[in-house]
Amino acid sequence: MFETVIGLEVHVQLNTKTKLFCSCPTSFAEHQNSNTCPTCLALPGALPVVNEEAAIKAMRLGYAINANVNHTSYFDRKSYFYPDSPSAYQITQLTKAIVQKGEVFIDLKDGSQKRIGMTQAHLEADAGKNIHEGDYSKVDLNRAGTPLLEIVSEPDMRSADEAVAFLKKLHATVRYLDISDANMQEGSFRCDVNVSVRPKGQEAFGTRVEIKNINSFKFVADAIAYEVQRQSESYEDGVYEEEVYQETRLWNVEQGVTKSMRGKEEAADYRYFPDPDLRPLIVTQEMIDEAKKMPELPDAKVKRYIDSLGMKRYDALVITSDKEMAYFFEEMLVQGAVAKTAVTWLTSELLGRLNKAGFSIESSPVDAKTLGTLVAKISDDTISGKGAKEILDYMMDNESRDIEALIDELGLAQVSDDGAILAIIDEIIAKNADKVEQYKGGKEKLFGFFVGQTMKASKGSANPGKVNALLKERLG
Ligand code: ADP
Ligand code: MG
Ligand code: ZN
Repeated sequence: MFETVIGLEVHVQLNTKTKLFCSCPTSFAEHQNSNTCPTCLALPGALPVVNEEAAIKAMRLGYAINANVNHTSYFDRKSYFYPDSPSAYQITQLTKAIVQKGEVFIDLKDGSQKRIGMTQAHLEADAGKNIHEGDYSKVDLNRAGTPLLEIVSEPDMRSADEAVAFLKKLHATVRYLDISDANMQEGSFRCDVNVSVRPKGQEAFGTRVEIKNINSFKFVADAIAYEVQRQSESYEDGVYEEEVYQETRLWNVEQGVTKSMRGKEEAADYRYFPDPDLRPLIVTQEMIDEAKKMPELPDAKVKRYIDSLGMKRYDALVITSDKEMAYFFEEMLVQGAVAKTAVTWLTSELLGRLNKAGFSIESSPVDAKTLGTLVAKISDDTISGKGAKEILDYMMDNESRDIEALIDELGLAQVSDDGAILAIIDEIIAKNADKVEQYKGGKEKLFGFFVGQTMKASKGSANPGKVNALLKERLG
């Protein structure tokens, strides 16, 4: 039996207004090479200046994961030649990153939690893009110099599930912190997965393989499953030494396999050295104060939801897994919705309808205020759950958001008034004297009959709780 060991390196594109070492915009440009200047084109003599916003965003991540935020850190050059990097080196932080050590807590399927150690998070500049067209390859440097935060974990994960849980937590965290849009399809949140196996009980780690640039949670899980099988089989077949060596591989989506891309370089191959053009990055008190301004994060929200709203841990995890969902939920509470009912209505009633109609929470045709108001009307017995579903269905297809008016228009007001319900009950009792006698004689099953008749006579508008209570009273 083998144990899997996984460590992750995540590249997060920071959502700064300008690039890491120049004032070119990071925003989308219509023309290739238009968001460029002598610095990001690496023209001789152009000097880099560190972007303070990028440093603050890196620091904010550091505080969020209980890391050491270094008040002095350094930039190094990592040498490699590639057409989309005109300087022939990447500016990164090797020797002393702005963020070191830290921790992220993940929730496992069995309900337990696990701490994943963080090695560091460092600032580095992204490269440009090569575009291959027919017989030509073109280089677009609009992306060159865009700030990346590379976040490196310790090899603390032991399964694909743990790796995915970790990535989801980190993804949610950077979105809460608003330091990146973390759009995986567009590549602003992508990761390198390091995987090795070792026989159970063995202390030393096995040889790791790095699978580069994966941009979906599913591909991460698939690539790990494939590598674990490949590595364990070669172990069992006695060819581990020959077949598993430190290298970089790529996940091939079509074939469902990892393929060797290149042998793994050692740090020495990159000829790292301190960048002579950049002074140490020294953070000021203002930067620290700014970086510490952060929203309530998922762990704190989960704790608060459990402690003060009485929520189940599972529900709290579902709601906080995404900031848009958490903010939607909290706005529903502001409108008077009860937490437990709000969870159900958000996660099953609304999300179910959004999925079917192809909407996300952000593009939901029914906003949080409206859904909160609707749910509050269930809790105060103005309408039944069934009536609320009718209103929600109606709102998915129509413009009106006036809940009071819709209750009237669709005739969904629930009757909770004792007098009105008793009038119906008395009529039913009078009409069914024989059944009343049988019930009193011990045929208790008939209670359901009376409930049914009363609900029917009220055309479903009577409050079922009230109907039950009043019938018990009348029938003795
Ligand atoms: P590099 O910078 O060359 O990619 P690092 O030593 O910084 O190498 O490690 C990169 C990643 O590999 C880290 O996330 C680390 O946790 C992980 N890692 C290191 N050793 C192993 C191993 N034996 N198995 C799985 N992952 C590992
Ligand atoms: Mg690496
Ligand atoms: Zn520039």
